[in-house]
Amino acid sequence: MKLQTQVGIVGAGPAGLMLAHLLNLEGIESVVIENRSRDYVQERVRAGVLEQGTVDLMIRTGVGERLLRQGLVHKGIEIRFNGEGHRIDLHALTGGRAITIYGQNEVVKDLTETRIASGKPLFFECEDVHVSGFDAEAPRIDFRHSGEGHQVRCDFIAGCDGFHGVCRPSIATGALTIYERTYPFAWLGVLARVAPSSDELIYANHERGFALHSMRSPQLTRLYLQCTVDEDLSAWPDDRIWDELQRRFETRRGWTLRRGPIEQRGVTPMRSFVAEPMQFGRLFLAGDAAHIVPPTGAKGLNLAIADVLVLSKALAEFYSHGSSDALNGYSSTCLARVWKVQRFSWWMTSMLHRFPDETAFDRRRQTAELEYLTSSRAAAQSLAENYVGLPI
Ligand SMILES: Cc1cc2nc3c(=O)[nH]c(=O)nc-3n(C[C@H](O)[C@H](O)[C@H](O)COP(=O)(O)OP(=O)(O)OC[C@H]3O[C@@H](n4cnc5c(N)ncnc54)[C@H](O)[C@@H]3O)c2cc1C
Repeated sequence: MKLQTQVGIVGAGPAGLMLAHLLNLEGIESVVIENRSRDYVQERVRAGVLEQGTVDLMIRTGVGERLLRQGLVHKGIEIRFNGEGHRIDLHALTGGRAITIYGQNEVVKDLTETRIASGKPLFFECEDVHVSGFDAEAPRIDFRHSGEGHQVRCDFIAGCDGFHGVCRPSIATGALTIYERTYPFAWLGVLARVAPSSDELIYANHERGFALHSMRSPQLTRLYLQCTVDEDLSAWPDDRIWDELQRRFETRRGWTLRRGPIEQRGVTPMRSFVAEPMQFGRLFLAGDAAHIVPPTGAKGLNLAIADVLVLSKALAEFYSHGSSDALNGYSSTCLARVWKVQRFSWWMTSMLHRFPDETAFDRRRQTAELEYLTSSRAAAQSLAENYVGLPI
């Protein structure tokens, strides 16, 4: 089957689906190609913290109805260390901005339903996806679907296929510069069917390692604890996970973590990664295809949404006024923000985790940083403005 469209989108994660939605609102045609099944993509539990800008965009573009009903608005977060909790008042420090807890899988469900309702093409379970011709004037995506070969000819390709996708590796060797840092630890994450033990997120720096208390809904708690990169999950029966979390969240005044059945568990590696530039010819990379941040700052999903907002505006300018200026500036516009978010995610990670090679000096410096953050309005404000999201 041969299809002709304006923008061929590889990947139906948050970046690909949001781009398809924004382009549709601009009257620009697209085809979305995803290699996983709809159920798989919708059930993948990942991010859950939405920046104010992501929330505003979803509401403004008509995909925020369920988010408004079910999202949990948080006006602060807690930083816990040395047995004491310290609240950072995001709302007061940013002139009324906040974050919203709403699972990435819920964002994906809302966007998938909107796409399907629009009647525009979205293919799940595609095999052998291959992109070519983007270095000339003939971008093209080939794939197999339901046993048949398909070909999409388009003006531009949007590589929204995540870190392990095909688009970035299809760019000529040497055309991209890669900046990367891996961290000497990982997160053991669990999703538990139990009411959260706190109304807000808790980031804990503890002698035994970092821990994060988060949530997905009033009935679902999401918890993470710092572990080794090669951690063996079978060595972590439920009781050991709960006991370890309890220790890391403990306060001098006493604090009890609610326990419940663990429904999902996994180990997430920590990495900072940027591929520059985010454009090669008529191929544009967006979201995790171009960059990865360690999850401490809760930024990956939000960065993906910011990229495709910039890309959709640039494509709209191209199709409505014939100007390529914004498309040519796509990479530098995005990277200016990406690097600020990289810095913030690295800083949160460095401040909150134990490092295997740290010295006594490093540890004292880390404590001083936490004390400064929680006692200086200027320091807390810097965290708050980054956490609720820098302007796009
Ligand atoms: C455990 C965990 C916790 C996280 N927590 C947070 C958080 O709290 N806040 C936050 O903002 N971010 C968080 N993130 C990061 C966030 O989930 C990602 O940054 C986000 O998914 C990026 O969206 P994306 O659309 O760019 O990529 P993806 O979500 O990876 O989507 C890419 C899509 O492309 C598809 N694909 C891949 N290869 C192909 C191919 N060859 N052909 C066609 N399709 C393909 C994939 O199946 C996928 O559906 C977390 C990530 C993990 C793993």
